[in-house]
Amino acid sequence: MIDLRSDTLTRPTEAMRAAMADAEVGDDVYGEDPTVNDLEERVAGLFGHEAALFTPTGSLANVLAVRSLVGVGQEVLCELSAHIARAELGAHGAISGLTMRTWTDPRGQIDLAAISALYAPDMGPFFVATKAIAVENTHNFAGGTVLPLADLQALRGWADGVGVAIHLDGARIWNAHVATGTPLAEYGAMADVLAVCLSKGLGAPIGSLMVGSFDAVAEARIWRKRLGAGTRQVGILAAAGLHALDHHVERLADDHAHAKLLAEAIDVDPATVETNIVVAHREDAAAFVAAAAEAGVRISAVGPRTVRLVTHLDVSTGQAQQAASALSRLD
Ligand SMILES: *Cc1c(COP(=O)(O)O)cnc(C)c1O
Repeated sequence: MIDLRSDTLTRPTEAMRAAMADAEVGDDVYGEDPTVNDLEERVAGLFGHEAALFTPTGSLANVLAVRSLVGVGQEVLCELSAHIARAELGAHGAISGLTMRTWTDPRGQIDLAAISALYAPDMGPFFVATKAIAVENTHNFAGGTVLPLADLQALRGWADGVGVAIHLDGARIWNAHVATGTPLAEYGAMADVLAVCLSKGLGAPIGSLMVGSFDAVAEARIWRKRLGAGTRQVGILAAAGLHALDHHVERLADDHAHAKLLAEAIDVDPATVETNIVVAHREDAAAFVAAAAEAGVRISAVGPRTVRLVTHLDVSTGQAQQAASALSRLD
């Protein structure tokens, strides 16, 4: 079976396991795990921010990041199929007491006209006040699409003008960085806070970070503990992340090439595939997923008529070619 359901399915490599086994550790709730501290400092530095906080999941990093900008009874604006709106099981409402309104773009892009039309200034007891805009780069459910830096800059300029903050869900910011050559710090400069994942294309078994100012991260550290995610000798996990940053970023280009190969096989224009995710439309997504499984390829349905294929570290070029030829025989 070639598993293209998600880039979360990777297993730690032997070298990553060795790095984990060798990690120096301490109690991270005391701030005394040197490997976690290294990872937090390194990731903050990569994005040009003051601080970062290690979290078990990207969802938690998103919750901590968004709640640092948006209070109870206030709102964040995001794209209709954003992960924070669609795939975090309502955490931002359930935990942070905030609401969301959305704009719609089939490719998950920033629509500044729509955003500025949705934007609501603070009008005291009359309307929900918009406190932040959340963008996703790359955009998962839109098919791994990249947000162009120019659009992020335009959003940043507009947001600074009206005084709202920006959250960047950068679960796959590494893919955007490799696909475009845009430095991570340039993406970092576009956002007040970010969430980034080590457990997607980078191949770590666990781990994400919330990135932001000293103050935002200090408060997030309290909320992380409050939510029961203050963990102890997790340097063994942070070591996997450090190893991934050293060895698994540049190779994402291979995943992107493999995704184009797969796109061609299932009649998706490879020019529309910017990173490691291919989204395709089929009359009956579940039937296509079942047929693919019969042919030895696991893919997922992300809607009744939408299937998704994701390339990753555990799919070699040979396997990508094999999957492409199996899938091309299906329709
Ligand atoms: C995977 C993902 C997350 C975080 O997911 P977890 O499973 O909670 O780690 C956040 N945003 C996007 C866009 C994602 O794809």
